[in-house]
Amino acid sequence: MIQLYIPLNFLGVLYREIKQSLTDLDKMFTLMEKEREVADKPDAQPLPVADSTVRFEHVNFAYEAARPILHDVTFEIPAGKTVAVVGPSGSGKSTLARLLYRFYDVQQGHVTIGGHDIRDVTQASVRQAIGIVPQDTVLFNDTVEYNIAYGRPGCTHDEVVDAARAARIHDFIMSTPRGYQTMVGERGLKLSGGEKQRVAIARTLLKDPPILIFDEATSALDSANERAIQAELKSVAEHKTTLVIAHRLSTVVDAHEILVMELGRIIERGTHQQLLARGGRYADMWALQQSAEGELRADAAVMAK
Ligand code: ADP
Ligand code: MG
Repeated sequence: MIQLYIPLNFLGVLYREIKQSLTDLDKMFTLMEKEREVADKPDAQPLPVADSTVRFEHVNFAYEAARPILHDVTFEIPAGKTVAVVGPSGSGKSTLARLLYRFYDVQQGHVTIGGHDIRDVTQASVRQAIGIVPQDTVLFNDTVEYNIAYGRPGCTHDEVVDAARAARIHDFIMSTPRGYQTMVGERGLKLSGGEKQRVAIARTLLKDPPILIFDEATSALDSANERAIQAELKSVAEHKTTLVIAHRLSTVVDAHEILVMELGRIIERGTHQQLLARGGRYADMWALQQSAEGELRADAAVMAK
C-alpha cells in the first residue's frame, strides 16, 4: 500500500509541476510570437537618447493583410508634451501604443523617435526609452518587489516603496501576508485589475523613462483612487513625451493636442477648446460624459442623504 502510495503522490506532484511549466511555456511562446513580429536589422544601433520627439508619419497598419486597421495616421508629440487619443473601442487607439513600443512594425509610413525610424534601431533601446502602462497588465510569477523593481534593475528597496506609495499600492502591499515579498501572479496572490494596474504604474514611475504611454491606465480603478493617481501621473508626465489613451475626457483637457480616432482614422484633432468650439464628435463625447458624471454625482448625493 505504502509503496504504491508514495509514487502516486510523487506523480501527482510531478504532474502539477509539469502542467505549471507548460503554462509558463505557453506564455513564453505567446510572448515570442509577438517578438517574432519584429526583428533588429543586422546593423541596428541603440536609439540616441538626446531627443524624445515622437512622430507617426502617414502610418498604415494591419495585423492581418486582409484587414487594414490604421489609415494614414500622422501626428507629432513634441519632446516633453502630451498628446491624448480618444475614440470608441476598436478604433485603433491601443494599436498606436503597440506600434510605438514596437510590438509590430508598420507596413507603410514611419514611426520615429528623435527623427530615427524605430525599425532602424534596436528594439531593446526603444523599450528602454519607453514606460508603458498597458490596458491589461500581466504580472510575473514572482514577488511584488520584483514586479515593481523590474522597472529599474538594481534599484533599492526604498525606491520601490516610494514608487508604490506614489501609485497608491503601498498600503495594500503591506496588508498582504509577506508584504513586498508576497508572491503574485497565477501561482501567488491574485490581484484585481486595479491592483495590477497600480503595480504597473509603480513600475513605470520607478523606470522614469523619457517617453510614457498610458493606455487607459486607470480604467480599472475606483474613482477615488483614479483621481489620486491621475494627479500623480499628470505631474510625472509634465516634462515627458507622453501618449495618453483616455477613457475619461476630463484627463485630457490639458493635452498639447487631442486626436479623435474612429475606424483607424484621425477624424478630428486640436486642443480641448478648439475641439469644443468645433462642435463635432469630441464636443458630443464631452457633453455626454459631463451629463453622465453629473448624474453619477447626483446619485451619490441622493445616496449620501
Ligand atoms: P482600441 O484600443 O481603440 O479599442 P485596438 O487598437 O485595440 O482598438 O484595436 C483596433 C482594431 O484592431 C480592432 O478592430 C481589433 O479587433 C483589431 N485588433 C487588435 N489587436 C489585434 C490582433 N492582435 N490581431 C488582429 N486584430 C487585432
Ligand atoms: Mg484599447
